[in-house]
Amino acid sequence: FISVRGLKKSYANGQIKVLNGLDLDMKKTDRLLVIGPSGGGKSTLLRCVMGLEDVQGGEIKVDGKSYIIGGERKTNIDPEMQRQIGMVFQSYTLFPHLTVLGNLTLAPIRSRGVRKDEAEARAMDLLNRFGLKAKARAYPAALSGGQKQRVAIARALMLDPKLMLFDEVTSALDPELVNEVITMITELADSGMPMMIVTHDMWFAKKIATRVVFCDGGVIAEDATPEEFFSAPKSVRARDFIHNVL
Ligand code: ATP
Ligand code: MG
Repeated sequence: FISVRGLKKSYANGQIKVLNGLDLDMKKTDRLLVIGPSGGGKSTLLRCVMGLEDVQGGEIKVDGKSYIIGGERKTNIDPEMQRQIGMVFQSYTLFPHLTVLGNLTLAPIRSRGVRKDEAEARAMDLLNRFGLKAKARAYPAALSGGQKQRVAIARALMLDPKLMLFDEVTSALDPELVNEVITMITELADSGMPMMIVTHDMWFAKKIATRVVFCDGGVIAEDATPEEFFSAPKSVRARDFIHNVL
């Protein structure tokens, strides 16, 4: 479904090398957990898959078709495929001047030409599905952190993604608000949405992942099932990492 080959990403004209020829394959049925030490390149990998970064080498394919081709001078991105990927970050990125409904319907109306009433009907369906219907007319400032994050996920779903990327979506939340977000992502996963997840929450990680990749030094250093990875990691680095986070 997704294949990443030889992905190279550096900053500051090549002085900071982050991804060093990273290879990764993902099946449609994978709920892929990306973990590893801080600075290992997890967020960079997700941002590259989202098409937010220039990449200096390598290629990403979706369903066998070229999506991103890196190069020293230029990065080629297929915008049509990019539209089919959704991403949610640690910090809330809702538009403060729009209601929840406004946040959800903005992109479909503006950039996809969906009719307003259609976009709103779809938004209400999603809000209903995720227990947020009562908040449709509220502004982000009136929402809890957990609600904001759930709205951010619903907003990404409005565009019918075939892959969702979650980068530490629970990290900025108070502990009592983490669960509602995890529940939403779990429901989404159970409904068959392919996802790549970066999280430091090992309880969430173990609950949701069907596959674990250990991202260290800009490559995938280990690729295993959660059972294998958490009980018998192969490398010393992975063992140390698990030891520190558990
Ligand atoms: P964490 O667990 O702390 O979130 P991470 O695995 O997500 O870490 P990245 O954010 O991908 O790590 O960063 C990898 C490396 O790239 C780090 O050394 C970081 O300083 C560097 N880096 C990331 N973004 C930039 C940027 N815009 N300019 C320069 N260096 C950057
Ligand atoms: Mg990160």
